[in-house]
Amino acid sequence: MAINIKKIGVIGSGQMGKGIAQVCATAGFDVHLMDANEDVLGGAVAAIGKGMGRLVAKEKMSESDKDAALKRISTGADMSGFKDCQLVIEAATEDEQVKKAILLELCEVLSDDALIASNTSSISITRLAAKTDRPEKVVGMHFMNPVPRMELVELIRGIATDEETYTTIRELVVKLGKTPINAEDFPAFIVNRILLPMINEAVYTLYEGVGSVSAIDNAMKLGTHHPMGPLELADFIGLDTCLSVMHVLHDGLADTKYRPCPLLVKYVEAGWLGRKSGKGFYDYSGDEPVPTR
Ligand code: NAD
Repeated sequence: MAINIKKIGVIGSGQMGKGIAQVCATAGFDVHLMDANEDVLGGAVAAIGKGMGRLVAKEKMSESDKDAALKRISTGADMSGFKDCQLVIEAATEDEQVKKAILLELCEVLSDDALIASNTSSISITRLAAKTDRPEKVVGMHFMNPVPRMELVELIRGIATDEETYTTIRELVVKLGKTPINAEDFPAFIVNRILLPMINEAVYTLYEGVGSVSAIDNAMKLGTHHPMGPLELADFIGLDTCLSVMHVLHDGLADTKYRPCPLLVKYVEAGWLGRKSGKGFYDYSGDEPVPTR
């Protein structure tokens, strides 16, 4: 590895931040996990432990490795825990203003040679990097959800990203047991440029009454062998994140084909964000998810 990484910071302990912390700690790195919301942070390590427990049950991890990995994770609600990190991965809410404010604050505590990666699903790495005091040390590191299970990490260079940073992060991805694929710094990169318009079209299909939630999801599962239907997948990703990615595509590529479906907007306005809020295209309050229309 071009730069010796021992301790990795993770900003945001939502579904992605927890997954990233889990794979980094499992691979032997010390991890500091931070979230502005102390309630979320409180349950984070227990949730990671539960995730590792499932791997132990499947004999993919030993109990002692699990205990050792959990011990490598510290948590905190401010930036001070990132002082001795060689890399900080930002995985907070998909909102450009939120991410820019985080990066400004982060640079104040970070050591001069530390690297910054963003797990953004869609936002320009060049624009985020420009907010920092080290644009050459900033890279896009786009993990997939759920992080412990998915093989891919998209890597995105900003216009200023230097080769040492890129190589270091690429080697780190391999150490984490994942496969890096390079994507250029265009709105939503590769996976979400293709996936999110499909999900948005599924919401239009629902909005126009072409099919019900179950009909759309079952049609895509049985008809295209997708493991999850597009609306189920949207709930899994988070409808706020889906909408945010559609806005980035619409604004960044200035093409009406990326217009977010008004029904998706309405669900987000209602606070129906999918699995993480308990309700989206399905209601998750019972034993089985029930379609909401
Ligand atoms: P999430 O809503 O589950 O978690 C976001 C977390 O960020 C929350 O816990 C929130 O409290 C925290 N946060 C917000 N503002 C903060 C701040 N100023 N400082 C510290 N923490 C703050 O979202 P998520 O699904 O984990 O997504 C996080 C990032 O990962 C986004 O950029 C998203 O686009 C990206 N991503 C998401 C997926 C997915 O399928 N959900 C996949 C790949 C990448």
